[in-house]
Amino acid sequence: MKNKTVVVTGGAGFLGSHLCDYFVRRENKVFCVDNLVTGNIKNIQHLLKINNFDFIKHDISKPIKINAKVGYILHFASPASPIDYLKLPIPTLKVGSLGTYNSLGLAKANKAKFLLASTSEVYGDPLVHPQKETYWGNVNPIGPRGVYDEAKRFAEAITMAYHRYHKINTSIIRIFNTYGPRMRIDDGRVVPNFIYQILHKKPLTIYGNGNQTRSFCYYADLIDGIIRLLKSDLHNPVNIGNPDEFTMLEFAKLIQEVSGTKVKLVYKPLPEDDPKKRKPDITIARKLLRWEPKTKLSEGIKVTIDWFKENNYGKK
Ligand code: UDP
Repeated sequence: MKNKTVVVTGGAGFLGSHLCDYFVRRENKVFCVDNLVTGNIKNIQHLLKINNFDFIKHDISKPIKINAKVGYILHFASPASPIDYLKLPIPTLKVGSLGTYNSLGLAKANKAKFLLASTSEVYGDPLVHPQKETYWGNVNPIGPRGVYDEAKRFAEAITMAYHRYHKINTSIIRIFNTYGPRMRIDDGRVVPNFIYQILHKKPLTIYGNGNQTRSFCYYADLIDGIIRLLKSDLHNPVNIGNPDEFTMLEFAKLIQEVSGTKVKLVYKPLPEDDPKKRKPDITIARKLLRWEPKTKLSEGIKVTIDWFKENNYGKK
């Protein structure tokens, strides 16, 4: 990967900015493409003055030209939290479809390696547990989450088509719930919501009865998985996530223990089509990428709470 130019779409977002850091540290030339709709310039502020880093404010749903020979394209642009894609349904559909098409066009023109950030949402509200990559999913195409799920399913389809038809070297990562520094405190997801509530001694909002499950992966483990997949020749989708599964009630208990702050619970309605269970089967990542997550949820959550405190992100 040495000396290659890297394009990260969504490079000012939570995961995208950590990827920019990774490549800048390794002295790759990095182009960060982001329209800042859900990304935050603060995430890349420290990189703006660095020579081998260029920020291009651009919506990747529109075609792009890069004046350099590109070696790697990591397509991470998209609203990614349920409240974001409910607020931005059409940009979400566009970036998953047209944005992926434009990014693949760039890969084709440069004969670059292309990595698509896909999602566990392609499994919808899964009827198979844990989810293996061979499961086709249970998605409501016209429900509120359909704009994200179907855009990412289309993104996977067009990526495989470019691989098969144009012989582009592509990989697809299916990312399960990930958390850590640089998440937005107001992105509506359970980790920042609970941290905000803990920091302000407000009750934790439990949607539904709290028995739905998720498996949370620390961002640094995820970045390691992304890089291993990028270096591999695996073209079929690979799940990357932490298989330790928690109910939201268990998670509410854990976050109170880690922070040493006890608050009440309040119950709110369960959002439409909220998946009841989610846990990745990571056999492929374990065997073929020699990857598995290392960070315990309690450790990662502690670091994340401290980061929100230090960065004054505790304010919305
Ligand atoms: N959730 C919750 N309270 C909150 C926010 C979310 O109980 O304040 C639940 C939500 O209903 C879902 C789970 O936490 O079952 C994870 O939600 P999130 O929005 O983080 O991501 P998702 O996995 O649904 O995309």
